[in-house]
Amino acid sequence: MNYSLQRALLSVSKTTTGSILRITEIRSLLAGGVRSKSQRKSFRTTLAMARKRAIAQQSTPNPSPSKRPRRATKKKEEAEPKLKFDLEWDFFGEKTSKGLHPLLELTGPAVKGSSKIAGFDLDYTLIRPKSGRKWPTGPKDWMFLSDAVPEKLKKIHDEGFKIIIFTNQRGMEKGYTTPKDFMAKIDDIITALDFPIQTFVATGENQYKKPGTLMWDRMVKKHNDGVTVDLEESYFVGDAAGRAKNWAPGKPKDFSCSDRMFAANIGIGFYTPEEFFDGEDKAIFEWRSVNPREVLERAKTNQLDDEYHLETKDFVIFTGPPASGKSSFYHHFLEPHGYVWVNRDTMKTQAKCIEAAKKAIAEGKSVAIDNTNPSTAARAAFIDLTKKKDYTVRCFVMDTPLEVCHHLNMVRQNQSSGKIRRIPNIGFNVYKKNYQEPTTKEGFSEIKKIPFYPVFENKNDEKLFLHWTD
Ligand SMILES: [Mg+2]
Repeated sequence: MNYSLQRALLSVSKTTTGSILRITEIRSLLAGGVRSKSQRKSFRTTLAMARKRAIAQQSTPNPSPSKRPRRATKKKEEAEPKLKFDLEWDFFGEKTSKGLHPLLELTGPAVKGSSKIAGFDLDYTLIRPKSGRKWPTGPKDWMFLSDAVPEKLKKIHDEGFKIIIFTNQRGMEKGYTTPKDFMAKIDDIITALDFPIQTFVATGENQYKKPGTLMWDRMVKKHNDGVTVDLEESYFVGDAAGRAKNWAPGKPKDFSCSDRMFAANIGIGFYTPEEFFDGEDKAIFEWRSVNPREVLERAKTNQLDDEYHLETKDFVIFTGPPASGKSSFYHHFLEPHGYVWVNRDTMKTQAKCIEAAKKAIAEGKSVAIDNTNPSTAARAAFIDLTKKKDYTVRCFVMDTPLEVCHHLNMVRQNQSSGKIRRIPNIGFNVYKKNYQEPTTKEGFSEIKKIPFYPVFENKNDEKLFLHWTD
């Protein structure tokens, strides 16, 4: 034992003379005798540390003991090179299934809070690919949209505006670009502009993406030095402005209206890049989405019955697209009367839904099948369970227009801060494809249309309903 320790000590002392002092300490300890198991263990640890120190010294020429960097610090410096103006990237929110944080933010003490915010979209607002392609070929493939961009940004920066980039980067979630490459590009842009710019990035189809306002809300709450934002003075500039094809000669249609909606949802002014940087006249545009205020006004004229439950054994099968309000309706009108809730989103499989319905019937309870149930076959699977069981079987058809369901789908994601993920478009398409209008021939004693009538739990839910969604 002592022999192997001594051999190890010798090999350490050969690596550098700088460690001799510590090795001498070990030797003197060794001379004192190493007897117990714990003593031997602590010895081995001391030895391993001495060896590491010796190796570290060897790879760092002329180290001054007081300035020797700690390992952790060194590692961090290697991983994150210092950014311009000491800005720092922060990854925010629980990682998604794609292994991405939903929000990336770049800020630092060099960014000063201001009541005047000038927000900008990134792609085709501030920059475009230098290569002339539609999508950049890599992090270096960018140039300012025009010479006017850096000039104008400098001007408003000098006027006391805080310049912020708010960008949706769906390409990260899709795997077309990496956060690392994207962050390198932003650093290059800031270096070119030569003043600090706060940046917020939604990395995919999540609750932070424009036109939702969560990126803005976070900026106001956490990253504006507590300064209240003047909505009259602030504005947002973006190219997703809802302009039709040939809005200017030869120009393609804008891919969406999400930048304009973002500004409207916040309650600040909006400009297209051409309006802002080149002084062009206001362009004609379309929102390309339901107007939530109009939807709400119209819904107020809808009439709901006072009650929808029966005192006798009742079996209700809902039919309606995703996000048409089925669950809310159940919780409001049927749950209080003891109806058993059968819901595929929570039960996961059709087999489990059938099982739960059977059990409820066996117990003689009223039931609500809260699934989309678009087809005759989907509904028959449940109707069959009620045969000879003395149930009233009714169909409740959600009379919520499809475009309102699309809106509610996004609203739900926003109201739940992303906990309820939006149903992808394919969910709506499958519903449309399989839809067969329910008839009494299927075995329903009644088919009841349920008009759309939103009920808000609180002011914030109502506010988020009134936000434009795309
Ligand atoms: Mg853009």
